[in-house]
Amino acid sequence: MVCDHTRFIFLPYYRKYVPLPRRKKIIVSDIKLHILAIAAHPDDVELGCAGTIINHVRKGQAVGILDLTEGELGTRGTVATRYEEAANAAKVMGVAVRENAQMADGFFKNDEAHQRKLITYLRRWQPEIVLANALEDRHPDHGRGGRLIADACFLAGLSKIETTYNGLPQKAWRPKRVFHMIQDRLLTPTFLVDITHSFATKMDAIKCYATQFYNPSSAEPATYISSSRFLDEVASRDTLMGKRIGTQYAEGFICENFTGISNLDALILPTMA
Ligand SMILES: [Zn+2]
Repeated sequence: MVCDHTRFIFLPYYRKYVPLPRRKKIIVSDIKLHILAIAAHPDDVELGCAGTIINHVRKGQAVGILDLTEGELGTRGTVATRYEEAANAAKVMGVAVRENAQMADGFFKNDEAHQRKLITYLRRWQPEIVLANALEDRHPDHGRGGRLIADACFLAGLSKIETTYNGLPQKAWRPKRVFHMIQDRLLTPTFLVDITHSFATKMDAIKCYATQFYNPSSAEPATYISSSRFLDEVASRDTLMGKRIGTQYAEGFICENFTGISNLDALILPTMA
């Protein structure tokens, strides 16, 4: 949608209408997302927060995913297989959109160029909530990516930072909340989301990455994430998180500022009945 009507204001002293300063053309996002999950590598989102994503998709909300890199430094598979696997996993989770920002795996930075690139995506999709990598983790891309995403979310709300999409200026947009997922390191969560009913679908989405995880018929080199133990460890982590809130499975999130609720009922889970 483009707005470029010239508007006038009546000035009584001069008894005439004068045109208001011409407004810049504003392009509204091509798809409005409720949640945007952003992470360094294709498969991070599946491992860290697929259950939460599926919960929201099942509520009928639009959820999107932005992978920062193509995972080109991954020991197993290729960029082409990663794209195919990411698309299949997106279908399993039911997300509305998934794109790749094509930043350099292992070497992207939290600098102005990368922040501006992310700001363009944030203003285009206008998510209310952003899910991001943890601020510290085993892979250095995760911590750096988590900080980059949080910084870009803040900066996207500053109207004097000008960005364009499809050749037109974008409107400033700041997501209301940024939550960091817990992936490899067992960090202490700020809050936990019950994923008992979406856990099986989450594991189906993870298994779409057939080149990355355990596959006894693969002839590719073994890695940290390709052992048969790794997927069991993901399930164990989600079980451990669930135990803390009395559910079978849960995903934990960390936020840098306080979380508030409008009433106490939001803290009662159906499993407590
Ligand atoms: Zn990763």
